[in-house]
Amino acid sequence: ENKLQLVHSHIRAFPDFPKEGILFRDICPILKDPAALTAVTDLFEEHVRQNHKQVELIVGLDARGFLFGPLLAQRLGVGFVLIRKKGKLPGATASVAYDLEYGKAEAEVQEDSVAPRQKVLLIDDLLATGGTMYAAIQLMKKQQADILGCMVVIELKELNGVDKLKPHSVFSLVQY
Ligand code: IMP
Repeated sequence: ENKLQLVHSHIRAFPDFPKEGILFRDICPILKDPAALTAVTDLFEEHVRQNHKQVELIVGLDARGFLFGPLLAQRLGVGFVLIRKKGKLPGATASVAYDLEYGKAEAEVQEDSVAPRQKVLLIDDLLATGGTMYAAIQLMKKQQADILGCMVVIELKELNGVDKLKPHSVFSLVQY
């Protein structure tokens, strides 16, 4: 489809970033072109309207989930909530620790941002190993949210992140 082609043509690859052996997928050209950003939002919106009409909140992952999430939430007429790296959110927070390739990280959400049984969709720019999205799911479980699914612009298929997130569904626009 046209919109998908437009999105696809606005993703660049950088070898050996941020370190040797990694092929970094860069979504910045999408943000620079209003037509491409509109296409991303359109495609996410179509998916949600077809599959998750009951959604009540879009929950975005630090940091590039913040670029796409609010646009989608506005289209859908629902709220947007941030999951952030440790120490960035004021007030009472719930947190979950998770493993990075080297070392550990912690993700946090404001405790009053998601109510029990609220229907949420998680969004980020890219799914690699799924570790980051898995942590976000754990956080939403702590909040007793009803997780409808996960959405990303890009899925790196060879890393099998989708398996790690089962039984939760992952919707992606572009796969490598
Ligand atoms: P995961 O936890 O291994 O699934 O990695 C996904 C997280 O790392 C997301 O928050 C992405 O923004 C970031 N990330 C990993 N690889 C890339 C990449 O190639 N391009 C952009 N972001 C990436």
